[in-house]
Amino acid sequence: MKTYKIAAIPGDGIGTEVINAGIEVLQAIATREGNIKFDVDHFDWGGEYYKKHGRMMPENGRDQIRNHDAILFGSAGHPEIPDHITLWGLRLAICQPFDQYANVRPTRILPGITSPLRNVTDKELNWIIVRENSEGEYAGVGGRVHQGSPLEAATDVAMFTRAGVERIMRFAFALARSRPRKLLTVVTKSNAQRHAMVMWDDIAKEIALEFPDVTWDKMLVDAMTMRMVMRPETLDTIVATNLHADILSDLAAALAGSLGIAPTGNINPERTFPSMFEPIHGSAFDITGKGIANPVGTFWSTVMMLDHLGEKGAAARLMKAIECVTADPKLHTPDLGGKARTADTTKAVIQKIHGANE
Ligand code: NAD
Ligand code: MN
Repeated sequence: MKTYKIAAIPGDGIGTEVINAGIEVLQAIATREGNIKFDVDHFDWGGEYYKKHGRMMPENGRDQIRNHDAILFGSAGHPEIPDHITLWGLRLAICQPFDQYANVRPTRILPGITSPLRNVTDKELNWIIVRENSEGEYAGVGGRVHQGSPLEAATDVAMFTRAGVERIMRFAFALARSRPRKLLTVVTKSNAQRHAMVMWDDIAKEIALEFPDVTWDKMLVDAMTMRMVMRPETLDTIVATNLHADILSDLAAALAGSLGIAPTGNINPERTFPSMFEPIHGSAFDITGKGIANPVGTFWSTVMMLDHLGEKGAAARLMKAIECVTADPKLHTPDLGGKARTADTTKAVIQKIHGANE
């Protein structure tokens, strides 16, 4: 029996609802496989914790999860607390020190789900976006002075390092190589930002020499939004900066049917620290507590977690169960135009896990 220690951090809003569903599904997979076990520790960090303690997580929070095999995260974001406090106090406070520099975001149209794009299925839209997750526009470098005075000034400096760009390019080229089409698009903005983005392009060209079997091209980020909509079939693996990929991946999620489906992994490829898996959506205050949050993004993130842990069989079984459920419109939550509740979709996935034979 192999036992994995999982740290669950539901956070706020629908984060708690989808993570509860995710853990139920994870335990069902363990039961079905028979030879794996998940010890899940729950951490009540987030906005409610902040209201009691004045911080999003305890000072030694990272030490408490440092030795877990993986982290399952819900959402940071609370209606009564400014977003930069919740984000930097929790999500980025884990991602950055744990050096989860590769944020991996698969997008594809699951069975039964209709893209807002005409005539587009998973044949035309099957992408994986790699987001630089440690520096760039979200490096946290900058300042704000003379607050409240007419001379007030603020800067956010996009900071790119050679080491940071090299490692994300190498990760993206390697991922592109592992996929059948061996095709990578490097997103940039080197026409308008003439220092860091030019270095980004130069380093892409250098790293490409290590991967002669990968076909790659370069795309300005504004033109990229158009290409994603008009010619989705020309894309496969995509690498972009922290900010660019943040925006492009919400677009990708919408093109694949709903933000509620999209998964992500914050990966520390060297495995010095645990990696963190989460749906890409946020706290969704408008539907919190209604029991209608789509749990599929969390389930798919759980698949990515199983894959990362090396449990390929369990990952494939869970993905198949998810696809069986999305294929049935009766099991769609309202964001997909259906009437199902979080609990209905969750129960159906668990039934498929137990029912489906290889
Ligand atoms: P959001 O993702 O919370 O919601 C955007 C829209 O999508 C809403 O209409 C919501 O109802 C819908 N939606 C999102 N997930 C859904 C799901 N699983 N099922 C059904 N519908 C879903 O984005 P927002 O409104 O911009 O942000 C709300 C809060 O969440 C903010 O505080 C923000 O900072 C935070 N946030 C956190 C993360 C994170 O922790 N990774 C990511 C994004 C936003
Ligand atoms: Mn985002």
